[in-house]
Amino acid sequence: MTCLHDRHLSPLLLAGLTGENWALDAYTDRGGYVQLRRILTGKVPPETVLAEVKAAGLRGRGGAGFPTAVKWGFMPKDYAGQKYLVCNADESEPGTFKDRDILRYNPHAVIEGMVIAAYVLGTTVGYIYIHGEIMEIYHRFEEAIRQAYAAGCLGRDILGSSVDFELHAVHGYGAYVCGEETALLESLEGKHGQPRFKPPFPAQRGLYGQPTTVNNVETLAYIPFIMAMGGQAYAALGRNGAKGTKIFPVSGDVEKPGCYELPIGTPFSELLALAGGVKGGRKLKAVIPGGVSTPVLPGNVMMGLNLDYDVISKAGSMMGTGGVIVLDETRCMVHTLLNISRFYRNESCGQCTPCREGTAWMVRLIEKIQRGQAAAGDIGLLDSVAANIQGRTVCSLGDAAALPVRSFLKHFRHEFLAYVGQGGNPGA
Ligand code: SF4
Repeated sequence: MTCLHDRHLSPLLLAGLTGENWALDAYTDRGGYVQLRRILTGKVPPETVLAEVKAAGLRGRGGAGFPTAVKWGFMPKDYAGQKYLVCNADESEPGTFKDRDILRYNPHAVIEGMVIAAYVLGTTVGYIYIHGEIMEIYHRFEEAIRQAYAAGCLGRDILGSSVDFELHAVHGYGAYVCGEETALLESLEGKHGQPRFKPPFPAQRGLYGQPTTVNNVETLAYIPFIMAMGGQAYAALGRNGAKGTKIFPVSGDVEKPGCYELPIGTPFSELLALAGGVKGGRKLKAVIPGGVSTPVLPGNVMMGLNLDYDVISKAGSMMGTGGVIVLDETRCMVHTLLNISRFYRNESCGQCTPCREGTAWMVRLIEKIQRGQAAAGDIGLLDSVAANIQGRTVCSLGDAAALPVRSFLKHFRHEFLAYVGQGGNPGA
């Protein structure tokens, strides 16, 4: 039995969970569905709930970090037709594995958060789109939905409040691009999972052409906790000027990889210490702070930063999903970048030329560099190809592919130059 109690500092989403106590009775023993009952049967106005979420400073935990209350505010209030709430559980960014832990250990927190969100948004139908490579979690979530229906927490007249919300679980088939919200909506509609041109945004024209709000798993799972403690109290859990808490999945060259739930604003050095430090006592070389789409930072820079959206952004990267990848001194940055770039080449949906052609071109160039067959000019060419993808594609996968390349070249150019004319890995 794995207990996650030693992997958090904030007793919220992952506290005391073992993998055995995920079901409805255990969730209600922990105070689950109390907030749903209070809000729906106590007729707490949706505006009051929205104000708490705003006070909490909750930002989307899927990667973009957009303020949740603002996003909810985009949903048209007086729309006469069907509106939808969709939970994006298509977590597939390498280095990111927090949502699957929430779904595995605390699925009812997601369901309760979704019903409360649906009440605020005025939606009566919702979907959760679960990544297709974690089927055991999908089946567990289906069971959690059945339990919630049986307890009157989903369906018609929830807890006798006359509020309705029908929730359906759907699984994808493992395509990374379906984590992009409009590709996800296409896939939900049974089409190819290809991103749509925006505008219109989903709040205007989303699932089946109707107004739709798409939120990440972790974002929704925090809603019951925010409502229990109050928005300001939740915000005050943050450190060093940041607000709230977050789950940081840590992987790579650390002694204890796993999910750590911490106040946002915690110094990175503390997270690294919690994760047991760099593996084998080796030196820290670099950190990818928020999933592989976020720019890499040198280890010494990262050691001076707090895990905060604005702080990491000012340092030239992004907090993204919070998926921290630690690279030690033995890592070859050319090989690491090649690994990342192959992923994006393989996951491009092929819809727009800069991404389809550019991701493949970048891989060919990095392979050439790695084989020692590149000229010095090829390194500049690689940067130029990345620059010409950035900001020129239908969805953010283009940027996700370009930003790692540009940051690896910015901070570790000397390693790429060392390969030029060397006939292979200069360190081998
Ligand atoms: Fe598809 Fe890439 Fe264009 Fe996104 S950026 S729509 S993944 S081709």
